Amino acid sequence: MAKVIQHFINGQVVAGAGRRTMQSFNPATGEQSGEVSLADAADVRAAVESAKAAADAWAETTPLRRARILNRFLRLLEERIDALAAVITAEHGKVLSDAKGEIQRGMEVVEFAAGAPQLLKSEMTENVGSRVDSHALRQPLGIVAGITPFNFPAMVPMWMFPVALACGNCFILKPSERAPSASLMLAEWLTEAGLPDGVFNVVQGDKEAVDAILQDPDIDAVSFVGSTPIARYVYQTATAAGKRCQALGGAKNHMIIMPDADMDQAVDALMGAAYGSAGERCMAISVAVPVGEGTADTLVAKLEPKVRALKIGPGTDPESEMGPLVTGQHRDKVRGYVDAGVAEGARLVVDGRDLSLQGYENGYFIGASLFDHVTTDMTIYKEEIFGPVLSVVRAKTYAEAAQWVNEHEFGNGTAIFTRDGDAAREFAHRIKVGMVGVNVPIPVPMAFHSFGGWKASLFGDHHMHGPEGVRFYTRLKTITTRWPSGIYAGADFAMPTMG
Ligand code: NAD
Repeated sequence: MAKVIQHFINGQVVAGAGRRTMQSFNPATGEQSGEVSLADAADVRAAVESAKAAADAWAETTPLRRARILNRFLRLLEERIDALAAVITAEHGKVLSDAKGEIQRGMEVVEFAAGAPQLLKSEMTENVGSRVDSHALRQPLGIVAGITPFNFPAMVPMWMFPVALACGNCFILKPSERAPSASLMLAEWLTEAGLPDGVFNVVQGDKEAVDAILQDPDIDAVSFVGSTPIARYVYQTATAAGKRCQALGGAKNHMIIMPDADMDQAVDALMGAAYGSAGERCMAISVAVPVGEGTADTLVAKLEPKVRALKIGPGTDPESEMGPLVTGQHRDKVRGYVDAGVAEGARLVVDGRDLSLQGYENGYFIGASLFDHVTTDMTIYKEEIFGPVLSVVRAKTYAEAAQWVNEHEFGNGTAIFTRDGDAAREFAHRIKVGMVGVNVPIPVPMAFHSFGGWKASLFGDHHMHGPEGVRFYTRLKTITTRWPSGIYAGADFAMPTMG
């Protein structure tokens, strides 16, 4: 019997009213692992009602008490990381060490958010006028929702809810229907850590649940992470409904390799960044841009044997470096991109299309592919593939390489590998991308900085977690106070000045 994956509303796992369900599969074996309940509008409404009932008391709970709950939650995550990682690997397919890595990155946001008393301190000016003081408050928005993708079932929700809760909001999580189970473990552990019922709810579901969230008049803000077309839709719909929204989209991250780079370091960095998590990362490097023919020849010559030697297998095998893709449909889509690259004239140096793994013939595996001589007009260059396919685009000069990065539709992450400080500074200063690495292939900011891209990789004004997260999940109020013993000069009908 496949396990049934349900919602978490008002402190309880509940079946919900929605009648639709979806099967979930283990990507390594292709076997059905679960049956996910898909929420309808009534289920979303039930979650909102439970959050409404909890909202005032939670907003009045002192930041210190909120932080203590987050600290207890953090300890539970530390103790149970293996169990959570196993659930992620079983639904997503990524190798266990990678699943643990994402949980650790999420835990760093919990640690950051547990600094709530410090984070919510704000500005005060004494004597803005004679015996007049001004101070600013950051108050919770109320009820906020998070809609998350399949590729980080623990980390991406944890980019959002620890900060939202620390700031005094109630949170409704709508996880990906393709990796739903981690959300329930997180919900149960939050409750165990002392979070009051209704403050954190989970509704499983698809577009129907998302649309109900976007239209619900009691939801004040929406955080979204997923593909660009859906991010754009969520942003437009949420803001048209008067909600605050941050919607992070897809990516096509370039790594520029300068002629003076340490090539062995650059190649190792590329291997992890392109093929780690089977390329299903929004910060994956999918385009390598070596500058100069000599750099390109050396890079491809060093990459090819490593790509061929990549150990592909189930995520539960400690020997595996790369697991399967998330679904058979996605595997076929990635294979279609490799076909398109060949048809468009790129040179396929390593062809991963026909991989078959003994004992895992029904799993959603695909081998790693490497293309050389990709040009910027090709589909495999322009579109996000989200699979283990690396394209090498040869640039004549640094200026040409940087121009390609700047002209690309996406602007999530990018990196330069060089020993030249001048080139590195120029790159960091001028490049039109939200997250930049210098000799760092996947420059994901730490929790106390903020995560977010530019261009079609982010819609909205705020990046996630760090100081931007606190700003997103709070509303600013500025209070000006005059004390009765101050100078009183009678009614004044001119614009008040405090000189
Ligand atoms: P997706 O856009 O298919 O799904 C994301 C969320 O949107 C899910 O919760 C899903 O249920 C919901 N959704 C899907 N179709 C919808 C529709 N028509 N209407 C309303 N809601 C809908 O993305 P995915 O395949 O789960 O995740 C992979 C994508 O996410 C990639 O494009 C990747 O680059 C992106 N991503 C971006 C970041 C980032 O930080 N920028 C991080 C992780 C993933």
